[in-house]
Amino acid sequence: MSKHKFQTEVSQLLHLIIHSLYSHSEIFLRELVSNASDALDKLKYLNLTDENFKTLDFTPRIDITFEDGEEKRLTISDSGIGMNKDDLKENLGTIARSGTKKFVEMLTGDSKKDSNLIGQFGVGFYSSYMVADHVEVISKKAGEEQAYKWTSDGKSGYHIEEAERESCGTDITLHINEDGEKYTNRWEIQNIIKKYSNHIPFPVYLHWEEVETKGEGDKKKEKKEQKTEQINAGSAFWKKPKGTLKAKEYNQFYQTIAVDYEDPVHYIHTQAEGTLDYTTLFYIPKNAPFDLFNPDYKPGVKLYVKRVFITDDEKELIPTYLRFVRGVIDSEDLPLNVSREILQKNRILAKIKNNSVKKILSELKKYGDDKKKYDAFIDQFGIPLKEGLYQDHDNRDDLLELVRFKSSKEEGWVSLAEYKSRMKPDQKSVFYITGDNETNLKHSPLLEMYRDKDIEVLIMDQDIDEFVIPSVNKYQDHEFKSVNYSDAADELKTDEDKKEENDLKPLIKKMKKVLGDQVKDIQASTRLKESPSCIVADSNDPTAKMQEIMKAMGQAGGQEVKPILEINPSHAIVRKLSGMKKSKSFDNISQLLLDQAVLLEGAKLTNPTEFVDRLNSILTESI
Ligand code: ADP
Repeated sequence: MSKHKFQTEVSQLLHLIIHSLYSHSEIFLRELVSNASDALDKLKYLNLTDENFKTLDFTPRIDITFEDGEEKRLTISDSGIGMNKDDLKENLGTIARSGTKKFVEMLTGDSKKDSNLIGQFGVGFYSSYMVADHVEVISKKAGEEQAYKWTSDGKSGYHIEEAERESCGTDITLHINEDGEKYTNRWEIQNIIKKYSNHIPFPVYLHWEEVETKGEGDKKKEKKEQKTEQINAGSAFWKKPKGTLKAKEYNQFYQTIAVDYEDPVHYIHTQAEGTLDYTTLFYIPKNAPFDLFNPDYKPGVKLYVKRVFITDDEKELIPTYLRFVRGVIDSEDLPLNVSREILQKNRILAKIKNNSVKKILSELKKYGDDKKKYDAFIDQFGIPLKEGLYQDHDNRDDLLELVRFKSSKEEGWVSLAEYKSRMKPDQKSVFYITGDNETNLKHSPLLEMYRDKDIEVLIMDQDIDEFVIPSVNKYQDHEFKSVNYSDAADELKTDEDKKEENDLKPLIKKMKKVLGDQVKDIQASTRLKESPSCIVADSNDPTAKMQEIMKAMGQAGGQEVKPILEINPSHAIVRKLSGMKKSKSFDNISQLLLDQAVLLEGAKLTNPTEFVDRLNSILTESI
């Protein structure tokens, strides 16, 4: 037997692991199974490519056995490549891996240890010492005769001696300590394997002893039976060739990764090879998850590295506006021991993310060809998609094709492309109106002229529209113009409109005296056809709806914003008012023109009693 000392860093690491990864101790099993899977991968490769190993009788498998008596033990065995004496020294006695070095640096360098962050690390074989106070490794390298046993208490050093093992492979036996007691349990092991290693491409078998008691009293007999069961799926669903998979199987797999009883409405499976090797399988759920608008939402995409589960708690795997997407990303190029910090800066992952977003958006565009299906999708996810318009500048053009709005002309959702196809020959802008309620907006006096000229106006009744559209500015070459603003209709003015505007100047002057600082301005309207008046916002001011949102968010926004009153030159009231001398009635009617416009905007009058008095006085005169 030979005695060896650990490289100093190893002792340091062991100490740190045990103390800092304590709350994530279950990951030791993920690490050991993943090592076993790697060892199987290596031998599989040799078996397929190397003459010396072609005749080898190779059945790749991982076996887990445990003893739950006085002495608690857990053994993970594999039929993989194995290790000889030098390998054992090199691999289990030094820190060969740069990832582990980084881990040590992080722990020693930073006193504020985020245990969650640490949990994202793969720390490999040494994590066994969180749950065991003594570990034994028996291994025989493929193609060699002699097996070796490596043992260590994980403190100062290790022993290596010759040992027996029938065929190549490795058995790792953990002598479980108090902290690991719960792991010598069939269900516990099964759960951990299902959680982390369900999709490694080799079968994991669990062996346990089932004790059955028969008969009663003196005749009571215990019958012990050895049981074995494969406890993982044994294949990564997303790695199967796309052509061999059926829609039903995709739906079944969805149920295993998403908390959802409904089938998804769409799936997007990408198997990329070349500069980057990765597979992604994304699903669009039928219904929005309950926490879609909760800042603490649970991300829906899981990250795997070489089929080993890494995390399902990383919000940055895809952009937040696509947070409703469910699925997996599996990279062949990322290291297993990848921390959240590293994830966020990783160039490989950034590239995968980029490609994935483009793919999802282009698939959604195709999905949009089926209007009925797409409308149902928009009902569920239209709002997060609009968030993308200000979050994701790179893909804005694609997103503009995907978002939908209500319209003054059509029932249901319309796209900007549809809007464009219905634009008048001389129309330059995309017109829209914002506010709370679709029905009110559709009947707003602000739309009268547009209706008259048969120009479509998008009805934007979702809060998010108010933020997003001004920041987007344009659809292709067409500016977005809010009809809530006074200058929206400028491009549609005719010479006749301009003449009417001129004719109305004396009246406006008189009315301004009456209304004083209640309004910012009074203008001759080109947009009104049936109504005598309406209020609009100055193009530099926030709209009434925006002011409301700002108030609700506790941002009063400084001084009160005054509206612009537009009056309709061709309306009988306005025409008659033009010929009236300044009088009590003139004042009352002027004020009523403003009050009714305020009411139609859905806003409240500051003094309803005065309004009623004024109305009654006018009614009395007219009887
Ligand atoms: P990692 O697996 O990330 O490299 P570990 O500390 O878990 O780090 O393992 C160190 C090395 O020990 C591995 O790279 C591998 O060469 C070797 N090793 C570990 N487990 C096994 C195993 N079951 N069979 C063969 N080699 C193994």
